[in-house]
Amino acid sequence: MTVHKNVVCTFCGCLCDDIEVEVEDNTIKSVKKACAIGKNKIMHAITEPPTPSVNGTKTSIDAAVTEAARILSKARNPLIYGLSSTTSEAQRELVEIAEITRGNLDNCSSYCHGPGVLARQQTGLVSCSLGEIKNRADLVIYWGCNPVESHMRHLSRYSLQPKGLYTPEGRKGRKVIAIDIRPTPTTKRADVFLQVSPGHTFEIASALRALIQGEPLEFPEGQDTVGDVPIDSWRKVADMIKGCKYGVLHFGLGVTQCRNSDINVEQVARLVQDANRHTRFYGVAMRGHGNVNGANQVMTWLTGYPLCVNFSKGYPRHNPGEYSTLPMLARKDIDAALIVATDPGAHLPKDAVDFLKTIPTIHLDPHRNLTTPWSSVVIPVAPVGVAATGTFYRMDNVPLRLKKLVDSPFPSDEEVLKTMKEKIVYAANS
Ligand code: SF4
Repeated sequence: MTVHKNVVCTFCGCLCDDIEVEVEDNTIKSVKKACAIGKNKIMHAITEPPTPSVNGTKTSIDAAVTEAARILSKARNPLIYGLSSTTSEAQRELVEIAEITRGNLDNCSSYCHGPGVLARQQTGLVSCSLGEIKNRADLVIYWGCNPVESHMRHLSRYSLQPKGLYTPEGRKGRKVIAIDIRPTPTTKRADVFLQVSPGHTFEIASALRALIQGEPLEFPEGQDTVGDVPIDSWRKVADMIKGCKYGVLHFGLGVTQCRNSDINVEQVARLVQDANRHTRFYGVAMRGHGNVNGANQVMTWLTGYPLCVNFSKGYPRHNPGEYSTLPMLARKDIDAALIVATDPGAHLPKDAVDFLKTIPTIHLDPHRNLTTPWSSVVIPVAPVGVAATGTFYRMDNVPLRLKKLVDSPFPSDEEVLKTMKEKIVYAANS
């Protein structure tokens, strides 16, 4: 029996790196310290792999990769999509494949935190690490997010309960504010819960900015609310922000996908900047998939843009809406798709999935899922963080190296994509 300590769970953006995994005879026997989701994901990481196949016929991995390279070489306008649960090394290979096939490259942040990533390119975001939050934060705000259910160890490991260097009292030493459109398990843990009406993120952030800057806010008689919450409640929030020693605002899809999307996050980022005139104050996006942050990082290093990139002219062009996955599928613009580490059969709208079924679709994934049955080419891969190594970026932009715990009969995403890229280059030169 081998006990692996400090294993990284790759499921959500918390990337908890204190997990203990017992392995015997190349089998995972137990997982300790992970939340229920993380434990389940690691325990069953190498079960139910798909069978390598081309058009429903079982084949070898090498034959499936050769067919995938042939499809992408012949495609006029391919889409390369997913990326959020694979390693940054594999993401780098996907950028190169998109470039040499003159295709489109997009990741899952296109319909989650993408607007926030774009906003940060305009305004920047004063941010900090999860370790700093644990050690220093005395004011924690959760806005449009519900980490008790989406990031199950965030509160216990980083933001609410842990005792840190300058937070020796843990939960007792922290004030907690929740802003959401409905009560959730997270809002129940807050000292102050402001239940706002949907679609008012921009107005609320603007009002808080004005209050923090000391600007007078005047309202017509009887209309002194913002987001259907009395302005006096927002005054108290502004005072709590100005009065804290170290505050953190965590924002989720309730902010990024609310009406106005990216300008909401611009205004929230400016609110964070304004608060820094009075105290130390930071913003952290509650990134969902394990390495969706890495997808934005890698695409930005290599193309200049974090998502929605088109290479049809031979150089990267960026235009959300035009080169986002869903609009391209709705317009039926693409003629082949390479899907890596995501399950569009489960996540995308039915019309988008119905269109994908009509074109050659290549799918790389460690598990059988709702995309497997209708993919033209199915390539099983070793699950990262369990049977393959690589790098993932945590929600606070800290890169973590993953461990390999067991052997898999299948190659890693990175190895498959390197081979696929070489075959595409060979086809182009022959
Ligand atoms: S909180 Fe997220 S990273 Fe941590 S164990 Fe649970 S699923 Fe894994």
